[in-house]
Amino acid sequence: MSKPTLERPGHISLSPVPETTLNLYTQKEPLSATVVDKYRISDLSSPNYCWHVVLDISASQMARKYRIGQSVGVIPTGRFHNAEFNLAHNQIRKGTLARKIRLYSIASTCWGDDWEGNTISLCIKREISEDIESGELVMGAASNYICDVAIGDQVMITGPVGKSFLLPDNPLDYNYVFAATGTGIAPYRGMLIELFNQGFEKEAWLFFGVPYSTDILYDDEFRYFADRHSNFHYVTAISREQKNDQGKRMYVQDRLAQYADQLVSLLNQPTTLMYLCGLKGMEYGIYPWLYSIGSNLVNLPDGLSIQDIQDLPRSSKEWPRIERARDKDRLFKETY
Ligand SMILES: Cc1cc2nc3c(=O)[nH]c(=O)nc-3n(C[C@H](O)[C@H](O)[C@H](O)COP(=O)(O)OP(=O)(O)OC[C@H]3O[C@@H](n4cnc5c(N)ncnc54)[C@H](O)[C@@H]3O)c2cc1C
Repeated sequence: MSKPTLERPGHISLSPVPETTLNLYTQKEPLSATVVDKYRISDLSSPNYCWHVVLDISASQMARKYRIGQSVGVIPTGRFHNAEFNLAHNQIRKGTLARKIRLYSIASTCWGDDWEGNTISLCIKREISEDIESGELVMGAASNYICDVAIGDQVMITGPVGKSFLLPDNPLDYNYVFAATGTGIAPYRGMLIELFNQGFEKEAWLFFGVPYSTDILYDDEFRYFADRHSNFHYVTAISREQKNDQGKRMYVQDRLAQYADQLVSLLNQPTTLMYLCGLKGMEYGIYPWLYSIGSNLVNLPDGLSIQDIQDLPRSSKEWPRIERARDKDRLFKETY
């Protein structure tokens, strides 16, 4: 299969919206899906190796029964299960053993990359690190397993899971501000394909943060939409290559601040939804910006001032309270 077409002629109706199904397949009874395509989506020169992997789920209960914004579980069975290593080091990484399910966001629309609903796509970054004490190389079990698969291989998956990071049932009635870091971009790929193929006419912004320009995933696809739809605004924040207005590293929140003139009134509209997806901790940068613009997506917890939030260290015990105070109907978050 070559790179999928991003837009079909005419508009496709998603009405009624597919039902949100959960856990059709479990660790005890997983789905064996066949790898039908895979291609590298990080630049060849990037050490943050990322792959787009397409799995055939036709004739399964999951075909046409997942929604963009959900995830699937992958049961790693590959060579990097680290079992011996982890047993020897389980005081360091308890529970990082083989066979434990790892979740991956679905990166394809409910129509799949084949437009027939027979496939599901994942966007995976290889996790590679060193053992803190010995300096020994440790390869993440599931991410390397799935990045290593060959076309024709069978992969055991579970799910779909998640019902709190979906597009609304009437998606064309809303504006969107999507913010991603790293592989957090995965769900937005499917969401944008789904929106524009239904004839989306409101405003959508995508802010994508990566360390280097070689790590911008699906750049060609987002440019495709930005070139054709003036209501889609695609902005990257390349932290190690670009400087913010204070001469420091450029993060997603710095880009949001640069576009405040267009974003502030948009974000305050009840028909604007904001989504955050990617590295755990990205919210520590974005929430303070939302407070600084007086956004109604975040409420001020008792006893805290906006200034307190601007100055809070990441280690602060106040973050869970701030988290609970976000408007969960309009500000969605999936960080890991
Ligand atoms: C809702 C959700 C959606 C997600 N979506 C995506 C997605 O779309 N794409 C994506 O790439 N990821 C995604 N993730 C993250 C994913 O689930 C995995 O956590 C990630 O791929 C790492 O899993 P792994 O099995 O490769 O690494 P693990 O084996 O779990 O190891 C984790 C890390 O620890 C290191 N490590 C392991 N053992 C040791 C040790 N003994 N000593 C030192 N270091 C060690 C590994 O090298 C690795 O860096 C998502 C997570 C969630 C919760």
